[in-house]
Amino acid sequence: MTGPVICVVGAGTAGLEALLAAREELGPDAELRLIAPERDFRYRPMSHDSLFRPAQERSLAIADVVAEAGATWVADRAEVVRQAERTVLTRDGDTVDFDFLLLAPGVRSKRALSQGYIWQRGGDPGFLDQIISDIRTGDARSVAVVVPRGVRWPVPAYELALVLAWAVRPTPAQVTLITAEEQPLGALGSAATEAVVRELDAAGIKVIVGVEVVDEPRRDGEPEHGGDPHALAGVMLVAEEPGEPDALIGKPTDPATVRMGAGASAQFDRMISLPTVVGPFIAGVRTDAIGFVEVDETLKVCGSERVWAAGGCVAAALEHSALGARQADTAMAAIAAATGTGSASSSGPVELTGMILTGQRDRWAAENPAGTHEPSTRCLWWPPGRAVGRMLAKRIAAWDPSVQDALPRHPEGLVLRVPIALGCSGAAPAGPIDEVSADVKSARLLDIEHRQLMAVRRREQAAEAELRDLSARLRFLTDRQHEAVRELQQHGYLHDHL
Ligand SMILES: Cc1cc2nc3c(=O)[nH]c(=O)nc-3n(C[C@H](O)[C@H](O)[C@H](O)COP(=O)(O)OP(=O)(O)OC[C@H]3O[C@@H](n4cnc5c(N)ncnc54)[C@H](O)[C@@H]3O)c2cc1C
Repeated sequence: MTGPVICVVGAGTAGLEALLAAREELGPDAELRLIAPERDFRYRPMSHDSLFRPAQERSLAIADVVAEAGATWVADRAEVVRQAERTVLTRDGDTVDFDFLLLAPGVRSKRALSQGYIWQRGGDPGFLDQIISDIRTGDARSVAVVVPRGVRWPVPAYELALVLAWAVRPTPAQVTLITAEEQPLGALGSAATEAVVRELDAAGIKVIVGVEVVDEPRRDGEPEHGGDPHALAGVMLVAEEPGEPDALIGKPTDPATVRMGAGASAQFDRMISLPTVVGPFIAGVRTDAIGFVEVDETLKVCGSERVWAAGGCVAAALEHSALGARQADTAMAAIAAATGTGSASSSGPVELTGMILTGQRDRWAAENPAGTHEPSTRCLWWPPGRAVGRMLAKRIAAWDPSVQDALPRHPEGLVLRVPIALGCSGAAPAGPIDEVSADVKSARLLDIEHRQLMAVRRREQAAEAELRDLSARLRFLTDRQHEAVRELQQHGYLHDHL
C-alpha cells in the first residue's frame, strides 16, 4: 500500500465506525491500523415487536470488522501519542506509526457515591426487580435516583425513575429524582426539559434539581469511603476501565444516608445512581482537567495537525453512541480531506438527533405488566441503539440476519436536534501537550519501561527454563543412544570402530 497510514484508537461505536468509514473515504491504498484491547463489540439491537425492549445482547468479533476494513489490529491500549514522531506508544510498549490518528477510546466510569446501586451501561440490571418487589411488599417506601455531577448522558436516570414510578403504582412509595443538572435534561434544550418535566409530574415523581448528592461524612469529616473509589470494592458495582464488563462486587448498602450538597442529610430506603465519568487521559494530546480530549468544531484535537477525536472521549456536555458515530464519520471525512483524497465540505457541525418519547405510560405498562422480570427501562429516548452509525449499522445488519438496518417505526414524541458545543479552551498553552499531560506522559513512559523490563525478565526466565528442559531432554536422549549402541554391540550388530 502506498497511501497514508491512518490509525484508529478504540473499538467502540465511534472507533469501528471510523475504521469502516476510513476505508470508504480513503480508498484501497490507505493503510489502516486499529489499536484496541477488546476482542468483541457488544450491542443490543431493538426488538422488532417492541418499542421499549431491546433484543438479546450480541457480539461482533472485532477481527471481522478489521478484516472487512482491510486493516491491521494491535490488541492493546494506546497510552501516549508522540505527535512529533507520529507514533502511538501502547501499554505493552509497542510503537504504532501513523500519518493521521483518530482517537475514540471512550470514557472511564467512576462511582460518585459509596452507597446504593449503580446503573451502568451493560451492567446487570437484576437489582431493579428486587427494588420493585421491596416496594410492593412495603419493605421500601422511598427510592432516590441520582444524577451526579459530570454525567454526560443522564437520560437513563429519568427512564429509571419513570419505570420505578410506573411499576410500583398504586403503592404510596415516593420516587425522587435528584440531579446536579440546573434543569432536568438541560443539555438537551428547553423543549426537552419541558417534555420530561411533564412526564415526571404525571408519574408523581418528586424532582430536585441543581443539587449534588454526596456521601454523608463520618463524624471525623471524611466520607464513608475516604474519597477513594478503590476502597469501595465489596460495596458496589464499579467499572474502572472503559469497556471492561461491570461486576457486582458486593452487597450494596440499604438504606442510603446522603447529604444534599451543602444542605441537609436525607435517607432513602433504596438509592440508584448513575456513574460519573472522566476522560481517557491519553497522554500527548490536549485534554481538559478531567482527561477529555479537547477538539475544535471539526473534531481536530486542539493544537494538533494530524490527530482527530470522536465519541465519548471528546470534551463536550453530551455523549451518545449515535453522536459518537456521526463524529467519527465527520472526523474521518476531515482526515480524508487532509490527505487530499476527499472533501470534508459536505459534513456540517455534528448534532445529536433523537426523540423524547411522551405519553407512553400505558403502552409501556401493557408490554411490562406487574411482575415482569427485569422490566424494560428504555422508555424515554428513541432510538435507544448502540448498533448505530452510517457504516457500522449496515455491516452489523449484513452479518447478523436477525437485525434490520432500518428503524421499524416512528413513535410519538418530541424530535430533537441538539447542537454540541466544541472548542479549545483559551487557558491551555500553545502546542500539543499541556503540563498535566506532560506529567502523565512521563509517569506512563516510566510505567511502560517497567513493564517492558518485567516482560524481558519473564522472557529470560522462560528461556532459561526452556534451556534447562532441553538440556535434560538431550541428556536423556544421549543416555538412550548409549544404551541402544550398547545393546546393538551386545547383539553383534555394531563394532567398536563404528
Ligand atoms: C449509564 C450509561 C448509559 C448509557 N446509555 C446509553 C444508551 O442507552 N444509548 C447510547 O447511545 N448511549 C448511551 N450511553 C453513552 C454511550 O455509552 C457512549 O456515548 C458511547 O458508548 C461512546 O462510544 P465510544 O465509541 O466513544 O466509546 P466506547 O463505547 O466506550 O468504546 C471505547 C472503546 O475504546 C477502548 N479503549 C479504551 N481505552 C483505550 C485505549 N487507551 N486504547 C485503545 N482502546 C481503548 C475500549 O475498550 C472500548 O472498546 C450511556 C452511558 C452511560 C454512562
